[in-house]
Amino acid sequence: VTQFLEPLNILLRFVEMYQQGGAGFRRFLQLMDIDPEVKDKPDAIEAGKLDGNVKFENVGFRYEEGEKVLHNISLSVKKGETVAIVGPSGAGKSTLCSLIPRFYDVPEGKVSIDGTDVRDFTLYSLRNNIGVVQQDVFLFSGSIRDNIAYGKFNATDEEVINAAKAANAHDFITKLVNGYDTNIGEKGVKLSGGQKQRISIARMFLKNPPILILDEATSSLDNYSEMIIQESIERLSTNRTTFIIAHRLATIRHAKRIIVLTDKGIVEQGTHEELINKKGAYYSLYNAQFEPLLLS
Ligand code: ATP
Repeated sequence: VTQFLEPLNILLRFVEMYQQGGAGFRRFLQLMDIDPEVKDKPDAIEAGKLDGNVKFENVGFRYEEGEKVLHNISLSVKKGETVAIVGPSGAGKSTLCSLIPRFYDVPEGKVSIDGTDVRDFTLYSLRNNIGVVQQDVFLFSGSIRDNIAYGKFNATDEEVINAAKAANAHDFITKLVNGYDTNIGEKGVKLSGGQKQRISIARMFLKNPPILILDEATSSLDNYSEMIIQESIERLSTNRTTFIIAHRLATIRHAKRIIVLTDKGIVEQGTHEELINKKGAYYSLYNAQFEPLLLS
């Protein structure tokens, strides 16, 4: 029966989001239906559960009527590996990551997972393997439980609670008057930015995809929120191929592999120490970000 209920559930949520209107819905449409030109090939294959070896080969990309954003990008990320992508604003970090779930098709080069071109998979089965944690978390009006279960429609209560625990969200949820039944959204409790992020991380624990794309929040959270979010993200990224779009270099200092993307392509990669010692693009970015702090 649940198989038949799922499409209904999705539809109901659409209606609800539509009624709410607002940025969340637009964002959702943008993400899910970004480009009608991206469609299944007639002979598209089911991805099944992928391992998550992601490869970009000589990828070039431009938005319609835009300048070229990505030039000749080649990058290979092994299953389970975490890479942090840094670079000046507008360099194309988000664009690069959006090519993995195929929000756009590449006109030049190829993006593949486990050796198969992403264009050969059905969109649905491809995106089932990829979790995206956005800066502006998309929540709908409904209970906290439903918002977390959005990661997996048929999740049991126990699964929802375990996901919330892994996301360091269980404690704040149980302190709310109605716990997991607390309504959020327009008529409900207002959550802080950090709490919303933890809800979306909990969703990802439930969805359990082999590939993750984390768009780090630009604005800093308070130290405590920052620390517990970092901790849950580390737990989430374990054994998943993870792309962190990093805006604040302080949070990725310990990343094993930092990729520096500029308008010239991938110009450097390495650890924080290696890149600082190079005194190149990363070094300049790092200094530019920390100079104002040093002066104040
Ligand atoms: P930031 O650090 O500011 O988030 P970024 O490195 O992630 O930047 P992108 O968001 O990928 O950069 O944007 C790269 C370029 O593509 C920018 O010049 C941007 O204006 C442009 N761009 C991004 N999205 C679109 C779009 N949907 N349509 C047209 N141009 C776009």
